[in-house]
Amino acid sequence: MREYETTIGLEIHVQLKTKSKMFCGSDNFSVDAKPNTNVCPVCMGFPGTLPVPNVQAIDWTILLGLALNAEIPKEFNFERKNYFYPDLPKAYQISSATNPPVIGGSLKIFAGGEEKEVHLHHIHLEEDAGKLVHDKSDNALVDLNRAGTPLVEIVTEPDMASAEEAKVFAQSLRSLIRHLGISDANMEQGNMRFDINVSVRKKGAKEMGTKVEVKNLNSFKMLERAILFEEQRQKDLLEDVKKVAQETRGWDDSKGKTLSQRSKEEANDYRYFPEPDIPSIATQEIVKKMKDQLPELPQEKAKRFESEYGFDKRLAESLADDIEMAEYFEKTLEHVENSAKDSFDKRKYAKRVANWMATELVGKLNETSNEFAEIRVEPENMAELAIAIEEGTISGKQAKDVFAEMFETGKGALAIIEEKGMKQITDTDALEKIIQEVLDANPKVVEDFKNGKEKAFGFLVGQIMAKTHGQANPKIVNEILKKKL
Ligand code: ADP
Ligand code: MG
Repeated sequence: MREYETTIGLEIHVQLKTKSKMFCGSDNFSVDAKPNTNVCPVCMGFPGTLPVPNVQAIDWTILLGLALNAEIPKEFNFERKNYFYPDLPKAYQISSATNPPVIGGSLKIFAGGEEKEVHLHHIHLEEDAGKLVHDKSDNALVDLNRAGTPLVEIVTEPDMASAEEAKVFAQSLRSLIRHLGISDANMEQGNMRFDINVSVRKKGAKEMGTKVEVKNLNSFKMLERAILFEEQRQKDLLEDVKKVAQETRGWDDSKGKTLSQRSKEEANDYRYFPEPDIPSIATQEIVKKMKDQLPELPQEKAKRFESEYGFDKRLAESLADDIEMAEYFEKTLEHVENSAKDSFDKRKYAKRVANWMATELVGKLNETSNEFAEIRVEPENMAELAIAIEEGTISGKQAKDVFAEMFETGKGALAIIEEKGMKQITDTDALEKIIQEVLDANPKVVEDFKNGKEKAFGFLVGQIMAKTHGQANPKIVNEILKKKL
């Protein structure tokens, strides 16, 4: 086989989490509502109604543009994209791709051990269509709850060269969007969806290959699989000296294949024209306002975690990447700071909490396939647990059991420690007494130790732990035992 290279561009739809829809007052959160209950004359496309743009949606689109270092033109325009489909009652969609609110911009990604900048072509704001539901007797039913919900479409340049890069880009973008708080970007609920554009060419060829578009992928896994499949399909065609047809294909997840949907010749002519019912939107005031609202972004957060807490890059990035995890972590640390003893060592606690989250907490979440948002352990309880370990109230091993119960019941760490009678014996007088008893009962072992038999020490510790039902603080036991011997 000859050597080929792959080119990928993405078009990503994200549903903004505004209260109301893009051009009317209907509720924007209608996923679970009965069909056609979150509707009004505007989003049902009744004649004579007028659209009123959602200010929050415009603000957030510009916020996203600023977070991606894009250019915000002084004004942008809504336009009509005309096509007929039963889930689109007006027979046009209001969009803004021709004079969009956001132009260019880029996002840095780290894929395959390398840093890479993926450039954006533009971002536009539009309204979504409704949904068709096919029932058992083959009727097509229309549900307009989703009609008119606000979408941003993020269009990248063809800057990615592998499925891995495309996946990492999509994940980084999702993380950024969630940091901005403008969408839940929850793929299961369909509020983040991907179209991929894939082409293959001979390595070093000047012209890009013919692109194929695959629409409506709604998980990272599907995105990755669809790209890998297309890559191979197109390579095989080129290898057979056949041409790749420019077309739109769909992804069949159960078959693991893309299938042709329509060719370029059948492409729609959308007859775009400016939306006459909405004036141009001036952006300068919005840009000023949004610059003040830009929060700390994931990559900045990771850098701060490295310098403030002394984390290695990997730990810092994995924690900073997820806004919910990052906020949970810092809240926990705040609680620790408020209630730990005076000798509070921030970096030490930070490492303990972060590692605990990365292993135990994430482990439990995976085990139970729970979402982070569903977790019942409050940050203050997490803080309690970290302090209990650090101050030797319980051992690391006991902490795992305590945490398991915290995770299950949402109870506080100290309450569980108390309940289970887990408290370690740290009272030195009490321990001295028990240790002396063990030494008196084992004169031969003591003799062995004095003659240089190291193992004897471990045996004695074992006896002491058994006598205290594992509740003796190992550190203190070691100290006293050494002294006595
Ligand atoms: P169209 O006119 O068909 O909409 P665009 O040029 O607007 O095509 O690009 C749409 C998407 O396809 C963008 O994300 C872009 O990066 C990507 N793209 C364009 N050309 C190629 C190509 N040859 N291979 C892969 N992706 C491409
Ligand atoms: Mg285009």
